[in-house]
Amino acid sequence: MIGHDIIAAPATAAGGAIAVIRVSGDGAVECCDRIFRGGCKLSEAAPYTVHYGTIVDGERIVDDVLATVFRAPHSYTGEDGVELSVHGSQYIVSEVLALLLRNGARMAAAGEFSARAFLAGKMDLSQAEAVADMIAADSRAAHALASTQMRGGYSAKLGDLRERLLKIASLLELELDFSEEDVEFADREELRRTMTETAAEIECLAASFSLGNAIKEGVAVAIVGAPNAGKSTLLNRLLGENRAMVSEIAGTTRDTIEERMNIDGVVFRFIDTAGLRDTADRLEALGIERTRRAIERAKIVIQLVEPDAEYEPLKVAAEQRLVLAINKIDIRRPAIVPDGAVLISAQTGEGIDSLSAAVRAAVDTSELYAGSVVVSSARHREALEAAAAALSRAAAALDDGLPSDLLSEDIREVLHHLGTITGEITTDEILGNIFSKFCIGK
Ligand code: GDP
Repeated sequence: MIGHDIIAAPATAAGGAIAVIRVSGDGAVECCDRIFRGGCKLSEAAPYTVHYGTIVDGERIVDDVLATVFRAPHSYTGEDGVELSVHGSQYIVSEVLALLLRNGARMAAAGEFSARAFLAGKMDLSQAEAVADMIAADSRAAHALASTQMRGGYSAKLGDLRERLLKIASLLELELDFSEEDVEFADREELRRTMTETAAEIECLAASFSLGNAIKEGVAVAIVGAPNAGKSTLLNRLLGENRAMVSEIAGTTRDTIEERMNIDGVVFRFIDTAGLRDTADRLEALGIERTRRAIERAKIVIQLVEPDAEYEPLKVAAEQRLVLAINKIDIRRPAIVPDGAVLISAQTGEGIDSLSAAVRAAVDTSELYAGSVVVSSARHREALEAAAAALSRAAAALDDGLPSDLLSEDIREVLHHLGTITGEITTDEILGNIFSKFCIGK
């Protein structure tokens, strides 16, 4: 992964008017010169300038292009590079790539440009990962999440935590050097305070994963209710299209159906579940099992009931939100409206805006939009949890008056786990794993 050989890949998706082909590595500019004819040689051009010319295969002109020249170390990868803007035909893109490959480049692996950027110290690992999230962002909230991380907000926060812990570890290790003299450089009271504060911050970051992950993947909303309550009709109404099967025969929704929808900057995944009831039908029983799992995974549960129907309020976990919706108000208005219930008609659309607003209100994005760090990667959450566990071991060691070497060992472990997030500490395996999930050309 550490090579600087010449890599090339298309950086844009098929179908646009222009396609960009990226070339990077030692000799990338000279490689392009072999197939580029313009006002000057690219290798003689000033860096960060754009040149009009043609790509040629011998005497044959393949395309009119613009070539942008980058020079190490001030480029995305930290290497020499060229970006060729060609006409967006798949044929042209593959011809130009084939020419580059014949002239010294090889096809880039997924994420190889970003991996090189990371290895060149252009960004840390969490920032490189955010690049992939940025490309995948499909809503304002997902964009804000990736943007804060890509711009280094998360790195700064972790850097600050690491610095405080490093100070403790150094003081403790200094004590070891003077162990004969029984001195304490690290004031135990201050140590405890720093550890408590740091632990709280790490736990807070780890806890933000619930929101971050939901924003990144789409906030799961389960629509639950008795057969014929109108779940499928509601899903269709919400989506404004006929996706779910609607039927008057109870129990027709055998599987869960999921649809994504953006409400005011947040993507929600609405899940229509099979009717909850006892049944002898095996297939339907499977559907009901899936319903239970869908409820467990959902961040928001819409319980759909008919006016004045008897129902048990669903039990949801503390971090879940339950929204009660009374459907079919076009037929009958309920005599009593429970607190917080939303009155709707999935059929006519009445009250659907209020329901959407109630769903949206269940996700607080104010902190996110204010630039607070929100964790969205399972890898980061795991590292944070491991760091928190090591920190609580260190705190226990401190309480028990254990010697400084044991204490500093635990704190070093906290530092290790935090370091894996930003990539101060990493292995080829971790890197391979992360960057292979990127698209080619990034
Ligand atoms: P599900 O079993 O909960 O998915 O229920 P469906 O969406 O299949 O709806 C069951 C029946 O109730 C269908 O005949 C729908 O047309 C009807 N229905 C659903 N919502 C409304 C509503 O708001 N008003 C009226 N009048 N009928 C509805």
